This record gives sequence, C-alpha cells and structure tokens, in this order.
Amino acid sequence: MAELHPVDEDLAQVRESVRALCAKFPGEYWRALDRERAYPKDFVAALTEAGFLAALIPEEYGGSGLTTAAAAAIMEEIHAAGCNGAACHAQMYTMGTLLRHGSAAQKARWLPAIASGELRLQAFGVTEPTSGSDTLNLRTTAVREGDHYIINGQKIWTSRAEHSDLLLLLARTTPREAAASRTDGLSVFLVDMRLAQGTGISINPIRTMMNHATTQLFFDDLRVPAENLIGEEGKGFRYILSGMNAERILIAAECVGDAKWFIAKAAAYAKERVVFGRPIGQNQGVQFPIARAYAQMRAAELMVREAAALYQAGRDCGAEANLAKLLAADASWAAADTCLQTHGGFGFAEEFDVERKFRETRLYQTAPISTNLILSYLAEHVLGLPRSY
Ligand SMILES: Cc1cc2nc3c(=O)[nH]c(=O)nc-3n(C[C@H](O)[C@H](O)[C@H](O)COP(=O)(O)OP(=O)(O)OC[C@H]3O[C@@H](n4cnc5c(N)ncnc54)[C@H](O)[C@@H]3O)c2cc1C
Repeated sequence: MAELHPVDEDLAQVRESVRALCAKFPGEYWRALDRERAYPKDFVAALTEAGFLAALIPEEYGGSGLTTAAAAAIMEEIHAAGCNGAACHAQMYTMGTLLRHGSAAQKARWLPAIASGELRLQAFGVTEPTSGSDTLNLRTTAVREGDHYIINGQKIWTSRAEHSDLLLLLARTTPREAAASRTDGLSVFLVDMRLAQGTGISINPIRTMMNHATTQLFFDDLRVPAENLIGEEGKGFRYILSGMNAERILIAAECVGDAKWFIAKAAAYAKERVVFGRPIGQNQGVQFPIARAYAQMRAAELMVREAAALYQAGRDCGAEANLAKLLAADASWAAADTCLQTHGGFGFAEEFDVERKFRETRLYQTAPISTNLILSYLAEHVLGLPRSY
C-alpha cells in the first residue's frame, strides 16, 4: 500500500519519534485499560518525558516551541498508531489561554512547571449540565470577595480532572442581564485543584462508552485567589474561543490519525481475508468504501494543515478550525464504519482493536463541539444566513 503520510517532510523527524514511542504501547496495552476504564498513566508519562506535551510552550518557558502544525502531527501520529491522545491532548492546547492572555507573572509561575511535567494542566471546565452547547448561558458564578473569588456551581464532562493538578475554568463574574454585551461577563480562572480538593470542589467520575476519564465537578464556595484570574475580568469568553480553535485543530488531527489507522487496517485485512476463493478486497463493493474513506481523509488533512497555518500566523481561523474538525470527524467516522464492515464479524471482536477505536472516534461527532453547531457557525458566520439560535 502507498505510504499514508506523504506530506510535511519537515515534520518527518517529529512523526518518526512519536511512532517509535507509540510502538511501545500496542493494542494489548489499550485493551487492558479499556476493560478497566483506567487512565493510561505510563503512556502519558512517556509523552511528557519526551517533551511532546510541551510542544506548544515556547522555549523561554521550557517547552519545545514547536508550531501548531507540529503539534497536530504529534496528535495525528498518536492516533494513526492505534493509541489515544484523549488522555492528554488538553495539556497541549489548554495552556494557550494562559500563554496568550495570562500576565508575565502568571506565565513565569505556571508554564515552566507545566512544560517539565511537574504540573499537569489537563482539565478544561466549560460545559455545564443545564446549558450544554449554549456556553453563554452557563451558571457557575465567581464572586469577588477581597483578594479571592468564591466559585459556586457545577460542570459536566470535565475530562481528566482526576489526573490534573490545574483546571482552566470558565465562570460568570457579571450577571447576564448586567453584562455590557452577550459575550461579556464571563471570566477564566486557573484553579489549583491540589489545594481545592475537599475544600470546595468535588469530582464524580462518569463511566462512558469509551475509556475517557471524564467527570462531573461540583463547586461549593471554592476560594480561588484573585491572582489566578486570567486576563481581564468579564472577557473570558473571547480568551476561551481562541483556545477552542487550537482544540478543534488538534482534535481534527487526531481524527485524521484515526482515519489513517482504520484505512490501513481495513486495506490490510481486505487483502488477506479470503472468501469465495479470493481476497475480499478484490471485490469493488469492499474496495470502494475504503478508497472513498481515503479520499475523505486526504481532504480533511489539507484543511487541518490550512487551519494550523492560519492559527500559527495569529490570523482569524474560526471557519477553518471548524471546517477541519467537521471534515476530519466525518472522515474518521466513515473510515471507522468501513473498517468495521470490512472485518465482518471479526470487527466486533475485542482483540482486533477495531471496535475500541470505533467507539473512541465516535465521540468527535459530539465533542468538543457537535457537528450541528459547526454547521450553524458556517451558515451564520461564513454564509451570512440568519442566526438560528
Ligand atoms: C466524553 C466527553 C468528554 C468531554 N470533555 C469535555 C471537557 O473536557 N470540557 C468541557 O468543557 N466539555 C467537555 N465535553 C462536553 C462537550 O463539549 C459537549 O458534550 C458538546 O459540546 C455538546 O454539548 P451537550 O452535550 O450539552 O449537548 P447539547 O448542547 O445538549 O446538544 C444535544 C444535541 O442537540 C444538538 N443541538 C443543540 N442545539 C442545537 C441547535 N441550536 N441547532 C442544531 N442542533 C442543536 C447538538 O448538536 C447535539 O447533537 C465532553 C463531552 C464528552 C461526551
């Protein structure tokens, strides 16, 4: 089969190092964790030690100062190798909010420890049970009291909270009715969960269809030092949006990696499985869905590249980040379905890893932003159609 990674020659070394690391974490490793819904501690430790999770942190803060395209290549390779970056991807992009909007003192205090792996910034608390996709309607409040903010409310789907020292939290500091505009009145905080556990924050794990370490958080008069407010009070929604573009680009890269894994696995099986006296891959009915999934993956890959380049250049990339996420999630889902179908009954057997990856990649039709919400964004902001919500 043709090489599935024909572009990005300058990133060949990064890709090769990630592949070498991932080779130490084969299907058996992920299957065992999946059964127990256990966190891939050793895998995350190996990525941290190799410096991959600090790819986007500038060298002056101890990171590797790589580009967004390099970070995307890292996440893509992890997924193309059959591993799962969901255990740690937030460590890469969540710190962007601190890097782009934090004060010099905050950056100097937190970024070197995040880069070295001494502190984990894996948790990102935006979604709430009652407001869901309607982020501006969130209800968690942060009220200033002297040199602290007092946080009350709850978050849902705060992934990796049990495996993170820090949480990037979005909360309302000005009531919606009193805010200067629809998007004002929300603020971002860096919460040190090591100090907070048992004193204002409680974490309830949620068991899901795939191994994702996600949780529900409850805040009960949690005291956060005012110095942990990122940027200006009330402007947090804007800061979070720019971080969300990075998140969409990197998760789109993961979906491209998943699609590559499913396509390679389906093509290999179609060549080797003989039924009716010939390989199943000799039938066009089996070939064509794999070929179509390949075409979809390549198109998505180009959009990820374009979005990453725009983000890197500091240019507006809202449309491209959303397009990349939409196309890549659709490509990985088409490839997953095709791979399962190509494997016939064996696709459902745990030992082939297809059913596990199938469950894992399905998430990206819904999170971190659902397909419908991306289509609404494109309709309104790119095509100028009337706002639908
Ligand atoms: C495993 C997992 C991990 C996650 N990790 C995190 C995390 O770490 N941090 C975090 O903050 N969040 C996280 N999320 C939350 C995720 O971002 C949300 O689930 C997602 O944004 C969708 O929101 P919702 O679940 O509230 O769905 P809803 O907003 O309730 O939407 C339900 C359905 O209705 C559709 N819908 C809603 N409104 C409209 C509309 N106006 N037009 C058309 N369709 C519409 C949606 O597309 C969706 O299909 C995670 C979710 C999951 C499942």
